Order: sequence, then C-alpha cells, then structure tokens
Amino acid sequence: MPYSSPVVSRLAPTPSGYLHLGNAVNFLLTWLIVRRSFGTLHLRIDDLDRARLRPAYLENIFRTIEWLGIDYDHGPSGPEDFERNFSQQHHLGEYQQFLDELRQQPGLLYACTCSRTQILAASPEGLYTGTCQSKHLNFAAPDAAWRAHVCSRALVAFTDLWQGPLAIELARELGDFVVRKKDGVPAYQIGSIVDDVRLGITLIVRGVDLLPSTAAQRWLAGYTAATRPFLQTRLVHHPLLPGPDGTKLSKSQQQPLERGIMAEATSPRSVYEAVARLLKLPAEAGRSLRALRGAFENAAIG
Ligand SMILES: [Zn+2]
Repeated sequence: MPYSSPVVSRLAPTPSGYLHLGNAVNFLLTWLIVRRSFGTLHLRIDDLDRARLRPAYLENIFRTIEWLGIDYDHGPSGPEDFERNFSQQHHLGEYQQFLDELRQQPGLLYACTCSRTQILAASPEGLYTGTCQSKHLNFAAPDAAWRAHVCSRALVAFTDLWQGPLAIELARELGDFVVRKKDGVPAYQIGSIVDDVRLGITLIVRGVDLLPSTAAQRWLAGYTAATRPFLQTRLVHHPLLPGPDGTKLSKSQQQPLERGIMAEATSPRSVYEAVARLLKLPAEAGRSLRALRGAFENAAIG
C-alpha cells in the first residue's frame, strides 16, 4: 500500500462497553499499518454519549491497549488525563460551529420532533421517511433533533484501500440522518469529522460495518471549507470477523453483559491469530506480536 504523505491515524473507541474482539482486531490492524509506514497514531476516545460512559469502560480502553502490547503517540495517558485534557466535552463549541455552518446551507438541515416509536411505525426498517422536512420546525424547539436531508440521488463514491472502488447510496443506507440529537449533543458523525480534521488524520481504518457512516461523513464534510480536508483521508474498511455462529460480529451486536476480550481470552494471542487470518498471513504469524509485525512487513492488505 504506497503512501504519498505521512500516515496519521487513530484508534477511536467509545467507552460504552468493554472492548470486544472486533475492537481489538481493529486496533491491532491500525497499529500494524501505522507502524509499518513510520506514521503517527492517536488515541481518540469518543465520549459524546456521556450517558453510556462508565468509568470501568474508560479504564478498559487503556488496559486493552496495554494487554495487546501496542502503543500510540498522542492522546490521553489514562482516564484522568482523558477527562482533563482530551474529552470531546472540551470541543463541543467546535462541533456546534460545524453544525451552524451546515445550517447555513439552504435546505440541508431541518428540525425533527418525531419519537422513535413514530419513526418505526412509519418505516419498520427504521429509516426515517422525512416527515418533518416540510414542517420547517424551529431548530431551537425543545426536543428537536436536527437531521440532514439526503436527496435520493446522493451517491458517495471513493476508493477504499481494502474494498476497492465503492459507490454508496446514502439515502438508501441512512436516509435523513441525525446530526444533532434531541438533547442537543452532536451526533457521532459530527464529532468524528471535526476531530479527524483537527488531528490531521490522513488514514482511517474501520470495519466494513461503518461504511454507511464513512459515506455520511464524506458527504457532510464536503459542505464546509473547514472540513473539506476530510475528503483527502484515505480509507481502509476491513472485513468483520465471523462470529461463533458464522454471522459477522459488529460493535452494535455487542451484548450489554459482554465482559470484553480481556476477560474472555486467556491471552492476546487469540487477537494476533484473528488478525493473521484476516490478513491471510501464515498461521505462524499469529504466534506473537513480533511474528505478526514481521509477517505484515510485506503483506498486501485486502
Ligand atoms: Zn420528524
């Protein structure tokens, strides 16, 4: 995978559960790519959803990274440092500024007061049908979420370094998606774009389950000059691991009672082995982090 500019990437966990095998595989893969290209790795913890944050989950992020034997160059050294210096709560003004700029785009955002029940009643797949678009509700109304209107022809095309050329129909994948939640908190897409631009991220490594999010982010980022650098970010969407029953494991399928990979695996070797399989490396590559790193030196990804 040739790179023309220095690689700057990030590990981007959310402290809303214990990190599972899928998260660990993503961390390791990101670390391998960054280290192979002598790049820079940030730890960027997504804590916009403070209601779901638990101190134990936050602590688990740092312990999992250590347990895997990997490192990062910039970011919080621990939970306390995170809260004091790195929490997304310190950047709420920047996210709101992006939202305000999006609001200035004619017809892009609108306020929506539909409840989850109403949305599901109108569309069993949960894709919002645009009920409030023509109502011109007040953005400042209490309990109003802000949505971005995705026109039915919106096609987000890019070349993924693992998946190859892609064209994603945003209306079909996400519909008019929420950019600011009812409680006034910016949605994940907003925080993710603004943070990646601020940190100068040039490479994002994600599971394929996040392809619709990537499409939404590329589409939104194109609307303002400040976020347009995001469109230069190179993308690697790796396959998900098959679960025990053959289904794909995604973060959203994580069970609330799941104890996380550190509690479930006897050693990080199971993660090394999973990454070796994903990369189609010889089985010996999964024996240790050193073996994996060595085998990855000449591996083509994807
Ligand atoms: Zn609505």
